[in-house]
Amino acid sequence: MEKGIQIAIDGPAAAGKSTIAKITANKLGYTYIDTGAMYRALTYKALKEHIDVYDDDSLSRLLERIVIELSPTEEGQIVWVDGEDVTEAIRSQEVTSNVSATAAQPQVRELMVEKQRSLATTKGVVMDGRDIGTAVLPNAELKIFMTASVEERATRRFAENSKRGIDRPMEELCQDIASRDKADTERIASPLKQASDAIFIDTTSMSIEQVADTIIQYAEKRRHL
Ligand code: C5P
Repeated sequence: MEKGIQIAIDGPAAAGKSTIAKITANKLGYTYIDTGAMYRALTYKALKEHIDVYDDDSLSRLLERIVIELSPTEEGQIVWVDGEDVTEAIRSQEVTSNVSATAAQPQVRELMVEKQRSLATTKGVVMDGRDIGTAVLPNAELKIFMTASVEERATRRFAENSKRGIDRPMEELCQDIASRDKADTERIASPLKQASDAIFIDTTSMSIEQVADTIIQYAEKRRHL
């Protein structure tokens, strides 16, 4: 059997990473891992238990005792925390506004990176996040750094929200995205940064299909190297 490769997809908030990562994983028959969902799941649990999202020690202890599971289904990925389906809850405004604080904590990141590495199977994996190519899978055969203008990312998020019945003005979405970009880029512990060997793709004027096709073509080449 052909050995699978590791594909790391990084980039700023709402760049379409998870949509593209899912399509790529389906096409190649690989496992898809949404690492942002893991930070969101921890944040959800911390808020529920009234744990300070800047308190690294308490957050790490929490992360050590909870079980986060990602399970793929026909309808998309289901996220579980201690057996509770939190798929929708982790996309709430409250979690979104607090997740970059949780994700900036060094001990939290160390534990998450360990967990994420253990999920990267030999079958082949597509992992998306902020530090996959730089910290989680530094030896990934294919690294992609995807971005788009803030306005374009907010427009995409707006359309996604509308489908889900969430009504938030464009201005707020732009502000959210810009402030998460800032927090993710400026944090000390593995900040959002393009790996030196990553392929840069600006998706501002590309369709989902065009981006997915581009990445799949790269993946096919790397698979046969
Ligand atoms: O990908 P998503 O937007 O759902 O990620 C939520 C947040 O989790 C990001 O804004 C970032 O703060 C954090 N994150 C991270 N490292 C990753 C994935 C996500 O710091 N690998």
